[in-house]
Amino acid sequence: MDHMALARSPVWLAMISSLVLAEVVWRVRSGRGYSGRTALATLGVALGGIPFGMLGGLVIAGAYGWVWTHALVHWPLHDWRTWAAGFVAVEFAYYWFHRASHRIAWMWATHSVHHSPEQMTLLSSIRLGWTNLFSAGWILYVPLVFIGFDPRLIVALLAFDLRYQFFLHTEAIGTLGPLEWVLNTPSHHRVHHGSNTAYLDRNYGGVVIVFDRLFGTFAKEQADEPVRYGLAGEQRGDNPLRIALGGWAILWTRTIQSRRPVHTLLAAPE
Ligand SMILES: [Zn+2]
Ligand SMILES: [Zn+2]
Repeated sequence: MDHMALARSPVWLAMISSLVLAEVVWRVRSGRGYSGRTALATLGVALGGIPFGMLGGLVIAGAYGWVWTHALVHWPLHDWRTWAAGFVAVEFAYYWFHRASHRIAWMWATHSVHHSPEQMTLLSSIRLGWTNLFSAGWILYVPLVFIGFDPRLIVALLAFDLRYQFFLHTEAIGTLGPLEWVLNTPSHHRVHHGSNTAYLDRNYGGVVIVFDRLFGTFAKEQADEPVRYGLAGEQRGDNPLRIALGGWAILWTRTIQSRRPVHTLLAAPE
């Protein structure tokens, strides 16, 4: 869904490409450097993910459609209140989807792809796992369909969430004043991508950060604790296939060596 939405919108594509280029110039000028290899690897992962996204999108749309026909109610799409409530509901579900993606090894095998870059750049936002269908995080949105939110509304709000998050993957923006209280910001999302102990498993929010504050997973970026990006204790290199599927290889090895394989698959990674 995400990849297809990107490919369909030339204006969006032109805008994000210019911002990516502007960020390259800014990073090089400010001495941060820009890894061309990482960028190419990310493009490889993004392109390779397109067929997986299309296949997964079809199956997930079918599942949501089936639940929709059995839903308790059908809230009208043309009513703004449906969208307001839907936004809160989708943000809430996204928070738990994202938290589960970090705390359940089976889901982390897919989500770890997004956390593999060791530089925080706008492009990192399109480095996404290929195996979302298999990792089954999409099931977390099923209750929303069942309580009456049209799957089209959910997909539209998630697509918006994903586009919003593009702007969060950068070191070029410091903090945003009072917006930091409510919204997920580049500063909060840098923390989320940190492999430092102080930053691990923090700031799961999508567009808003309020659920992290509510459920105790919020951490503020600290000036004396520079963020170390990338996966803790693991490097996946620059081969798109290895980036996209390396998490499964690690999980496979750990599971066959484990005395409690089911527990290994469902417990927190590492
Ligand atoms: Zn994450
Ligand atoms: Zn991210």
